[in-house]
Amino acid sequence: MVVTGHVDAGKSTLMGHLLYKLGRVNSKVMHKYEQESKKLGKQSFMYAWILDETGEERARGITMDVGQSKFETDSKIVTLLDAPGHKDFIPNMITGAAQADVALLVVDSTRGEFETGFESGGQTREHALLVRSLGASQLCVVVNKLDTVGWSEERFLEISNKLGSFLKQAGFRERDVTFVPCSGLTGENLTEPCTEPALTKWYKGLTLLEVIDKFKCPERPISKPFRLSVNDIFKGTGSGFCVSGRVETGMVQSGDKVLIQPQNETALVKALMIADVPTMTAFAGDCVTVTIANFDQQNIAVGYILCDPLSPVPVTSKFEARIVIFNTKVPITRGYPVLLHLQSLSEQAVITKLVAQLNKSSGEVVKRKPKCLLRNNNAVVVIETSRPICLELYRDIKELGRFMLRVGGVTIAAGLVTQVNLDSVLIN
Ligand code: GDP
Repeated sequence: MVVTGHVDAGKSTLMGHLLYKLGRVNSKVMHKYEQESKKLGKQSFMYAWILDETGEERARGITMDVGQSKFETDSKIVTLLDAPGHKDFIPNMITGAAQADVALLVVDSTRGEFETGFESGGQTREHALLVRSLGASQLCVVVNKLDTVGWSEERFLEISNKLGSFLKQAGFRERDVTFVPCSGLTGENLTEPCTEPALTKWYKGLTLLEVIDKFKCPERPISKPFRLSVNDIFKGTGSGFCVSGRVETGMVQSGDKVLIQPQNETALVKALMIADVPTMTAFAGDCVTVTIANFDQQNIAVGYILCDPLSPVPVTSKFEARIVIFNTKVPITRGYPVLLHLQSLSEQAVITKLVAQLNKSSGEVVKRKPKCLLRNNNAVVVIETSRPICLELYRDIKELGRFMLRVGGVTIAAGLVTQVNLDSVLIN
């Protein structure tokens, strides 16, 4: 589950408080955080510190990396990806969202603040679009900080209505979106039914924890060939080195020979760990740490793919895709440079051909070889990357067949890979 939302919406406080209430933080540590935050005059950040682990983040009071924690509901074990809301850190947020099955979208209901996050310049819309484009189809909107508006039902409904129609446009089905009133700071309606009279007066619905428990488990593509996208690389304790990432499809076992692409060299899986617990096997959906041997650590980078040597991931620097353009200040023409994000990979790329503009709902061709593409257009384009990258046809392996395009720190489009076998540039 990824937690998204505009900066200062209260994501870290909310999740920190939730983890605390679920007994995931020992009271000694909590006491230490309380003391330290008091000393710095930042007591309101005490719960956020549970998730924001580095000193730099604490000093700045923002979450920069994608912190990971786990907790349990009645029926599920949830891996939590706390995505940063600060504008500079959206690439990290993409990594988080690309790994997530479901998402929380936290909004600040304080008057004026919801509006800042939702209207142009705010990250609420962009996060919702990213989450949807990267594959999470179920969403819980946490209408947070409701304590600041006297637990007003009217405000809750206003926000739910405004966001509801936007989310529908963004491609979420109504039945997959739930709105929950909360306060991360006071802890109201997180794990126990609300007690605040001003809230119980009108709200009889689910707690945040119950909504999370009710998310449907997505089907795991276990029978597809093994793919793991590398999110991090680090030195292990013994020989060899470690990579971490999510098994996107298939499965991997300790002792397996895997192919590392686009390097095109094999390596040995020496050991596997899921959430610090050694395991023999990891399946699609698992976030795993792999100890690698018989491979030079210099030759692997974030965004590389570990795959089945008998059924390797395609590698190419030219492919065709169907894109939907969210917003762009200038028309997109041939030769338009972009930054391509696919799972944890980010790579310089150029839109080299505008093949066709499509009708938004039917997908039929409206115009062949358009001169330019504008905001809200759907189109088929050819994209060339500066170096060969790993990707899949969306219809074969969704997880590696969808990507985002960004320009100058703004996400301008999301896309699906429709063809990789274009003339000669294909390497494998
Ligand atoms: P993030 O940037 O989304 O992770 O936001 P933080 O969790 O760091 O919170 C930002 C600020 O909002 C901090 O000063 C929090 O104490 C405050 N805050 C968070 N949740 C609530 C809430 O439910 N009610 C109120 N009144 N303040 C909150």
